[in-house]
Amino acid sequence: MTGNNVRLQAIKGVEAYVPPAVSFNETEIPGEVFGENVFTKVVMQKRLPKSVYKSVIATIEHGAKLDPVVADSVASAMKDWAMEKGATHYAHVFYPLTGLTAEKHDSFLDPESDGTALASFAGKTLIQGEPDASSFPNGGLRNTFEARGYTGWDVTSPAYVLENPNGNTLCIPTVFVSMTGEALDHKTPLLRSQQAMGVHAERVLKLFGHENPDHVVSYCGPEQEYFLVDRHFFVARPDLLNAGRTLFGAKPPKGQEFDDHYFGAIPERVLGFMMDTERELFKLGIPAKTRHNEVAPGQFEVAPMFERANVAADHQQLLMTTFKTVAKKHGMECLFHEKPFDGVNGSGKHVNFSLGNAELGSLLVPGDTPHENAQFLVFCAAVIRAVHKYSGLLRASVASATNDHRLGANEAPPAIISIFLGDQLADVFEQIAKGAANSSKGKGVMHIGVDTLPVLPTDPGDRNRTSPFAFTGNRFEFRAPGSMQTVSVPMVTINTIMAEALDYCATELETAVAGGTEFDTAVQNLLTEIITAHGAVVFNGDGYSEKWQIEAADRGLPNLRTTVDALPELITDEGMELFEKYKVFNHREMHSRYEIGLEHYNLTVAVEAKLTLEIGSTTILPAAVRYQTELAQNVASLKAAGIDADTEALMEISTTISALKAALAGLKSAIAGNTAEDALAEAEYTRDKILPAMADVRTAADTLEGVVADDLWPLPTYQEMLYIL
Ligand code: ADP
Ligand code: MG
Repeated sequence: MTGNNVRLQAIKGVEAYVPPAVSFNETEIPGEVFGENVFTKVVMQKRLPKSVYKSVIATIEHGAKLDPVVADSVASAMKDWAMEKGATHYAHVFYPLTGLTAEKHDSFLDPESDGTALASFAGKTLIQGEPDASSFPNGGLRNTFEARGYTGWDVTSPAYVLENPNGNTLCIPTVFVSMTGEALDHKTPLLRSQQAMGVHAERVLKLFGHENPDHVVSYCGPEQEYFLVDRHFFVARPDLLNAGRTLFGAKPPKGQEFDDHYFGAIPERVLGFMMDTERELFKLGIPAKTRHNEVAPGQFEVAPMFERANVAADHQQLLMTTFKTVAKKHGMECLFHEKPFDGVNGSGKHVNFSLGNAELGSLLVPGDTPHENAQFLVFCAAVIRAVHKYSGLLRASVASATNDHRLGANEAPPAIISIFLGDQLADVFEQIAKGAANSSKGKGVMHIGVDTLPVLPTDPGDRNRTSPFAFTGNRFEFRAPGSMQTVSVPMVTINTIMAEALDYCATELETAVAGGTEFDTAVQNLLTEIITAHGAVVFNGDGYSEKWQIEAADRGLPNLRTTVDALPELITDEGMELFEKYKVFNHREMHSRYEIGLEHYNLTVAVEAKLTLEIGSTTILPAAVRYQTELAQNVASLKAAGIDADTEALMEISTTISALKAALAGLKSAIAGNTAEDALAEAEYTRDKILPAMADVRTAADTLEGVVADDLWPLPTYQEMLYIL
């Protein structure tokens, strides 16, 4: 297709679009659908022998060691339940270091020697699987001659039946490890880190008089931002299709400056999509709760209720797959890329973190008078210490080529990791730094000035969207993670640095008390010491401002601007010792993550660079040359007719075409000139040479978009992609 035909066809397609009939059953009650396809505790209680049920619950709820003898009984109940739900296959689902979800499907049916087949699912099949690991990234953890990888059942994350028009599958969440037991996935370290943090949190609780505290776990509530684009436009954009983001595109005349999209009315088609996704998520027991428009046009957010970190992480992955599938059904593509469109806000995934247990709830609840709530203050101080001491690791946990476009772009937090405490808490800690805290700023009330309206209470802690790590009343919200990444990586880091900080607090307090110091005094001393040593990380001001960059440097806070700056944090002595001490990663595992991070960065940009070259040379340049020819012919005809020809437009396009050609040649030689010998050198080269060369191509191409006749422009424009839904 030539000229703008691709675009016209796409627009026709959008106009002719009829939404699919939503498959709601009118008599269906949403509450009843919830968890319908999940092997829940209620199902287990009904179907398992009492002793088996008790044993499994002890593992799930209280972290008791899994008793392998229960496996046969659970497997058989699980198989019967799944087959009643139409499942013919089962799959061990795991989370390899690609950041995606992997599954290996097997049939329940086992052929017998007499030619019949018997449905079977033994305990050992539930507990362990053996997919070929050789095609998954391992960062040097495995030699190809020992390609074996093992999956192992994660009892703490419930199994579920995944529906598919071609048959249903019983899905079992698993870890994925090498023959030597080293982690080849994101779940194993998450479980390890959770365990480590729990142990030290319980020590602190004991000191505060909780005699036998229940198992402490970490909770995660992930808020997911995403874009929706009509499929017709999506498939007409090779950059979106292959790289997940637009590598070209001039800014639309109307961007997000009207602020009219945020929390605006949700378009009908999108609402239909949201309702459909929620129904699917509900069936899988995923508590999708909040939905709204986001800041940019075409951008939306979904926030499921918080859950235990490892369950939340599994659910988050399922949510992303479900969104992709359902969007297609509605004729749209769901974009999870951090920055699909230049010049409009990108997408993040806010990771809300707290720790606690069923009995005590969140341990990060300050109450009305936090200065009197010593236990809360110790947990909060632990967060301050952890984030200050290991801010580089936190930064590294969200590092990717795609998230680099977002962090520090005045729409997401800067690359400097700091903590926002809010007025009330910041004031309490200021008092502590000076000695002791004697008061808490109370809740205020807001007078609106209309008698018929209620007087609204104001929170003592305000919001600050510019902070990467903000206290939000009963949890901390880590806002730097990218929209595409798994929440496991930041959660592993948070859990591990918290394990260290809580270990430190517990040891300090235990030692002081053993030495005869009164407990209250010991707590006071600990808090003062922590806020004095680590208070530099607390910042309540505007994180987007230029001033903060300078002040943060004065405070000695690292500012790791790019992935290439951040990833080496993973292999510093301090980082490696931390993860080894809490048995989350050994040195080899850390190195493997570092290597994979770099490889992924290099590959991502390499694909983008090739696409830029290809689209620039074969799509944009020809369109511009056609228009140039048209202009040249016009000038020639005018001259032949003896009319004074205005050559300004022809001159302008010719100059820009030359600029585009030069930029394409520059990019080509930059790609060819990469002779780096190791992954880090290649990443540096990529950042310093390839990305700028790509930017030059884009600048010339985007200028051409504003010059070339619209009926010759081949790529769907920003205007079309962002506003036609
Ligand atoms: P906001 O946009 O105001 O930050 P949302 O309602 O969009 O809030 O999302 C808040 C997220 O934080 C939800 O996923 C919610 O379940 C989660 N959350 C609430 N309380 C906790 C908690 N104690 N621990 C972890 N996450 C929590
Ligand atoms: Mg939020």
